[in-house]
Amino acid sequence: MRKAFISPTKYVQGEDELFNLGYFVKTFGDSALLIAHPEDVKRIKDKLEWTKNKFNITLIESGFQGECSREEVKRLQELAGQHSCSCTIGLGGGKAIDTAKCVAEGEALIIVPTIAATDAPTSHSAVLYTPEGEFDDYAYFKQSPSVVMIDTTVIANAPTRFLVSGMGDALSTYFEARATSRSYSNVNAGLPCGVREGVCGDAKGTNTALVLAKFCYETLLRDGVNAKISSDCNTVTPALENIIEANILLSGLGFESGGLAAAHAIHNGLTSLAGTHHYYHGEKVAFSTIAQLVLENADPDELNEVLAFCVAVGLPVCLADIGVDSVSYEEVLTVAQKACIPEESIHSMPFPITAEAVAAAIMVADQIGNKYKMNKDE
Ligand SMILES: [Zn+2]
Repeated sequence: MRKAFISPTKYVQGEDELFNLGYFVKTFGDSALLIAHPEDVKRIKDKLEWTKNKFNITLIESGFQGECSREEVKRLQELAGQHSCSCTIGLGGGKAIDTAKCVAEGEALIIVPTIAATDAPTSHSAVLYTPEGEFDDYAYFKQSPSVVMIDTTVIANAPTRFLVSGMGDALSTYFEARATSRSYSNVNAGLPCGVREGVCGDAKGTNTALVLAKFCYETLLRDGVNAKISSDCNTVTPALENIIEANILLSGLGFESGGLAAAHAIHNGLTSLAGTHHYYHGEKVAFSTIAQLVLENADPDELNEVLAFCVAVGLPVCLADIGVDSVSYEEVLTVAQKACIPEESIHSMPFPITAEAVAAAIMVADQIGNKYKMNKDE
């Protein structure tokens, strides 16, 4: 059986780690194209100035427009060429990071997440949008980032909702990797460079990825609540460090090399409900994880453990928690149909999938979550 595992070349996290950014730039050359939102640059200006002077590097500010579109990627690649940049830095949230991945095309890339809201930073893929902000396509690169660098002090000072949302994204990782493993489905780590369509190189997940995914879940249960408190206090504790590592590294390696299944497909389906648009990726993934557990009729103790975790850290457990106060069966069926299109990861579940079964799971998960919260309040 062919198996594959992919990861960044180097991962480093620590308090005030940004002071070392110049060192990593220097491993590629003397200058870097900095792709970041101006607001994010402002937050860390002092550290950037310090590391620039200390390591004698030039950072080319890119005037990043905020959207990861083909046009913006082309503009930034030309800018990098004009200044003969030795490497690319993607600093900030999802869009700056994805744009940097597209600009670098798998070469000499430093990723610096300033929030721990998703597990995307470590991966070798990105999502392209149109300049108007509509989904365009997925892009896959030949390598993961060269360096993923996390300044835990910066993460601790970001709004707590981002960190909790990241826990929601990390929550699904084990259950999706477990389903993928049980069904012997392919994982993204096996793809060579290029787009998803028509490429050879199918590969299954490794035991390594499954163990990382399981440890990701165990870390959430152990340290999630205290990490949230730590973030509320804008301070770095071992619990927060463990959750940052779980949200970004463990979940990132776990999803990419362990595989996605029902939870992320249901998440994608849920985006067709307008009410969910104000909620973050990880918040929707948390509820979708509960729906996956209902769909696969998971052990009730396990389901209760997940519900208790979500309520303890403030993650959604029912549709109302993600902005959907009332919904018809037809609307839920539309969500389920979207989750069940042939290219969706839901077909990595270890049994045949129908839209009706997925709709039922979403509706029952909503009721179970509601009931759990009510019983807790009594
Ligand atoms: Zn995700």
